Amino acid sequence: KSSTEVSARYVRWNPNVDLHRSGDWSIEALFSHLKTKGFERITEPVYPVTKGKFFMDPHLPDCLLVFPPSANWWVGDKWYEAGAVILQDKASCFPAKVLMKGWTQEEGECIDATAAPGNKTSYISALMSSQSRLLAFERSAPRFTTLEKMLAKGQCRNVIPRRADFTDSDPLDPEFAKVTRILLDPSCSGSGIVNRLDYLLEDEVDEPDAQSSRLEKLASFQLQMILHAFRFPSARRVVYSTCSIHAEEDERVVLAAVSSGIAEEREWRLADRREVLPTWERRGRPEEMGGDEQMAESVIRCLPGEDKTNGFFVACFVRNEETDGLQL
Ligand code: SAM
Repeated sequence: KSSTEVSARYVRWNPNVDLHRSGDWSIEALFSHLKTKGFERITEPVYPVTKGKFFMDPHLPDCLLVFPPSANWWVGDKWYEAGAVILQDKASCFPAKVLMKGWTQEEGECIDATAAPGNKTSYISALMSSQSRLLAFERSAPRFTTLEKMLAKGQCRNVIPRRADFTDSDPLDPEFAKVTRILLDPSCSGSGIVNRLDYLLEDEVDEPDAQSSRLEKLASFQLQMILHAFRFPSARRVVYSTCSIHAEEDERVVLAAVSSGIAEEREWRLADRREVLPTWERRGRPEEMGGDEQMAESVIRCLPGEDKTNGFFVACFVRNEETDGLQL
C-alpha cells in the first residue's frame, strides 16, 4: 500500500454549534442525518472503511467519525455549512486532546499560539465547552482572516483571536496571568502531510538540497516558540506538535527544550506517557533523544500509510505546581 493512499476520511463533530445555534445539532441528530444520506454506523473499526459505513474513532470516540476514503457527503451539506462538522485529520485532533486532559473551567485560561486556519483552536474551544478565555494568536494577515471565519462558523464564542506574533507577547503582562495551558503548533516543513483536505499549507516543501538548512531554521524557530511559552508564569502544560516526520523538528527540538536553562529554572519536564494518549502505540525515537527510552515513550508519532493519519508528532511539557508565580 502506498504511503500516499488514504484509507479513511475523518470528520469531527463540533459540539459548539449544538450549544449556540438553534436546532438540534447533537451527535445523535448527526447519526440520524447520516442515515438519511445512506450511511450505516458500525461498531467495529475496519480499514479501509466499507462503502456506506462509518464508525467512531477508537481513540476519539466521543467526536471523531471515520468514513470510507471515497466519502464526500459533506459537500454542500447543511451540517458542514453550519460548522457542526469539521474535516480534520485524526492526528491533528491529538494536540488539543492532550492539551486539555483533566481540564476544569475553574483552572484558568488557554492560549493557542499559532492558530490559523483554526482546526485545533476550534477543538480546544469545544473541549472548554466554549467557556473561559482562549486567546488565539496568528501573525499572518491572510491566515488570520481565515481563522476569524472558521471561529465564527464553528461558534467558538470563548476564543479571542489576535493578529500578532506570539513571541512579541509579554508573558508577564497581567492579561496572561491566568493562562495555564498553551498549544504550540508552529510552522513546520509539512513533510507528514499526505491528505491535504483539511490543511492550509503555508508553502510547498523544498527540494532535498535546500531541505537541511530549511529544517535547521525551522527547528530554531520552533525551539524559540517553546521557550517563550515556558515563560508564562501560570502555565503548567505546554503541548508542542508538528505535521513533520523529521526528527530535526520533532524529538530533537523537544530534547533541546527540556535541556534549556529556562526549563531547568522553571522545572519544565516532559509529561509521563499516561498524560499523552497512552493507548497510542507509536512513540518517539529514543535514538533522537540521547537514547532516553522513557523520554521517547512520552511523545507520540504518527506515520502516514501506517497509522491511517497524516504524519504527525506531539509532545507535552508539564511543570511542578510549587514553582507557580515565579517571576523571571
Ligand atoms: N494549529 C493550526 C490548525 O490546526 O488549524 C495550524 C497552524 S500552522 C501549522 C502554523 C501557523 O502559525 C501558521 O498560520 C503561521 O502563520 C502561524 N505562525 C507562525 N509563527 C507564528 C508566530 N510567531 N506567532 C503567531 N503565529 C505564527
